Amino acid sequence: MNCIQCQSTRIVTGALNEGVGLFIPDEIKKIFLSVKAPYIQIDKQFSICLDCGFAWSKVYTDLEKAKSILLRWGNENLLKRLNLKE
Ligand SMILES: [Zn+2]
Repeated sequence: MNCIQCQSTRIVTGALNEGVGLFIPDEIKKIFLSVKAPYIQIDKQFSICLDCGFAWSKVYTDLEKAKSILLRWGNENLLKRLNLKE
């Protein structure tokens, strides 16, 4: 891995101590407005360059799990907009 600012290879990676990131989609079926909403787990990895001090993050999720959750719980508008119909 190289620094995305200065291309140095002197990189250290880690995580911010803020717990697990949960993404709750806006466009879900109305039934979830009053109960616990479905969520997609977001994983975050942070990196710091020891040469120029630049820090950046990589935010990602399991794409197949995300599609599965949205397919099951997404409202009609979301499924149509993302072309997620089975
Ligand atoms: Zn750098």
